[in-house]
Formats: sequence, structure tokens, C-alpha cells
Amino acid sequence: MHSIYFDHSGTTPVHPAVAEEMYRYITGDSFGNPSSIHKYGLRIREDLKEAREKVASALGADVDEIVFTSGGTESDNMAIHGAAQVNKNRGNHIITSAVEHHAVLNTVKALGKAGFDITILPVDQYGMVSIDDVAAAITDKTILITIMHANNEVGTIMPIAQIGQLAQECKIIFHVDAVQSVGKIPVNVDDLKVDLLSLSGHKINGPKGVGALYIRKGTNWRQTLLHGGAQERLRRAGTENIPGIMGLAKAIELAMEERETEGARLIGLRDKLIHGLLSIGDVKLTGHPTKRLPNHASFLFKYIEGESMLLSLDMKGIAASTGSACTTGSLEPSHVLTAMGVPPEEAHGSLRITLGKDNTEEDIDYFLDVIKPIIEKLRDMSPLKD
Ligand SMILES: *Cc1c(COP(=O)(O)O)cnc(C)c1O
Repeated sequence: MHSIYFDHSGTTPVHPAVAEEMYRYITGDSFGNPSSIHKYGLRIREDLKEAREKVASALGADVDEIVFTSGGTESDNMAIHGAAQVNKNRGNHIITSAVEHHAVLNTVKALGKAGFDITILPVDQYGMVSIDDVAAAITDKTILITIMHANNEVGTIMPIAQIGQLAQECKIIFHVDAVQSVGKIPVNVDDLKVDLLSLSGHKINGPKGVGALYIRKGTNWRQTLLHGGAQERLRRAGTENIPGIMGLAKAIELAMEERETEGARLIGLRDKLIHGLLSIGDVKLTGHPTKRLPNHASFLFKYIEGESMLLSLDMKGIAASTGSACTTGSLEPSHVLTAMGVPPEEAHGSLRITLGKDNTEEDIDYFLDVIKPIIEKLRDMSPLKD
């Protein structure tokens, strides 16, 4: 029986070396609290510093610019709330895009309800934001721009460096959700000209429930969500999730070491998969044809419900996704596909295949073998096809 995992944008398996690293901090005497001044605490404080250095060096950041959080969602919330609340006296306008992850989109919308003026930029047919639209949206009241690096549903990579340049010229704080791009494509905070950047452990073969927020030195940002102790230099209260942080640091270190070779390998597999699927009729690639994540392939199948495809694939031992984990159990079409101009009846036929380190060429061959009869059968039964 095959068992193939093709849902790495949803979450990834924990790398064995990451699990080993975490185990060291769950068992034995590496349980200290880094805020304690005895030897148990001091030892962990040293290890925590090393972990912070690993994350900082992966991003081209300084060690003091990294704050550990409970994941991508918290990093996004912290970044946006912290920048918005502290700069209220300068202006109340926030710019984001229509294809952001809900951790960003719903945070910005909540601020909209709380009196902030928000602009949600449209995207083109590939899910791409245009620089001209960003430039046109900026006013003298704009205090924050938050745009994702790479989209989780359709894999499109946004022109972050150019938006960063614009934000810098206009002295506007720039936040980037880089949860999908870290470890897959170059992410350097200076090259991208970002002030705040979110990442998450479980999308890079690390543990769930841990992430980080990069905060550029000098950024007018303040922690506004969690009140408590002085951990993380007063930027995130609460005793640190040490096993999680150690796992995250190991995961990002491994991802950096392997990024170039692994990226090239995944592009090869991805393109074989895209080529194979597009040779079937009435199938469209979603997202940008070239500016997309190395491991990401997403499609629209005419006359088919994505969910039926997932069930059929699951019976063949293949775990895929319709695009967004959040749409499971909801009949609402994806906000990303909708923003790209896909009509609702077509949006329901979405399939997302996201590859990872354990996937092989045999997996792709097997998938292409089994998907064809599945599509034929589902289309034969389809009331959508007359
Ligand atoms: C998964 C994801 C998040 C949320 O991260 P969690 O660690 O699961 O909270 C945020 N943004 C993007 C783009 C994601 O893919």
C-alpha cells in the first residue's frame, strides 16, 4: 500500500534530527527555565541564545531582532497589532492584500472594526499584487503594509523587495508573512527591506506551536498582546517553549543547508507533475507559472469537486489538499481563488500538491498513474458536465 504525503504547505513531518534535538530538552536535566540564575537556568539560557543565533543567521538578521512565538499566527498578530497600536498617533491606515493567510487578513479586518482604515489590495489572475497598486494605495496616513512573501494556496511569490523599497522610501512599516517561503527560497531581511517578518516551525519540518517574529532594530513596534514577565526582552511574555524553540532552530538550520540542492530537486519533481497533469484536458494551473514556490503545484479541474478528488486519492494512499486547510468543512470557495477572479463553480475543483523532502520521482509517477482514472470516473458521474 502506498503512503504518499503531498500536503507540505499544510504541515510537514518533523525531521528526525529535529525530533532528536527536542527530545534532549524534554528529558534528562535540560529542563531549566532560562530566566533562572542557577546552573540549570544558565545552561538553557546559553542554548536559547544559540537557537536565536541560528534563526537570525538564516534571515540575515541580528540575534536581538528575533522573538520566539507560538507560531505563524501569533507572529502575524503580534507584528500587525504592535505596529498599528503604537503608530496610531501618526495615522490609521493599513494596507494588505486579498490573498493573505487568515492570520493576517482577519487581524487586519479586526483592526478595521476597531477604527483603523484598511485597504485590501486586489491581485491579478496569478495571485500577484502589483507595485503600482501598492504605490497608489499609500496615503500620508499609512502606517503599515503587510503582504505575504509566498502564497500558501497557489504558491505565487510576491515582489517583496520592490514593495519593501517603496515602504522604506515612504517610511512605512513593512511586515511580511514568510511562513511559506523560509527554507524554500532566499529570505534575507535586508534584501527584502522588511521591518517585521513571520515564520513558523511546522512548515519547515520543525514542530508545531512554535514560530518566530523578526523585528528590525529601531522599528516603532511594541508588544501589545501578552502582558506578563520580561522574557524575550519584553517583547513576548511567558516562559519560553524551549523544546519547540530548539526544534525550530534545528529545522531552520537544516533547511538552510539543504535549500539549494533540495530546491532544484523539488522544482524538477514539481515541473514533471505540472506537465503530467496539464496534459489531461480541462485542467488549469493556478498561481504564477514561474514565480512560484519550488515545491508547489496547484490546479483547477473542470467538472469535479476537489473534495471528491481528495477522497479518491486518499483511498490510493495519497494525501493532498484542495488548497487551504481552513476551507475544509466549509462550502465557501477559497478567498484566494475568488480574489484571482476564479468563479465559485470552478473554485470548487481545486487541488493542491505540495512536495517535501521525502517525496521521490516514483511518488510523482504513481500519482500521475492513479489520478487519470480518478478524474475520468468523477467526470463521468459529474452532474456539472452535460
Ligand atoms: C501556516 C501559515 C500560517 C500560520 O502558521 P501557524 O504556525 O500554523 O500558526 C500563517 N501564514 C501562512 C502563509 C501559512 O502558510
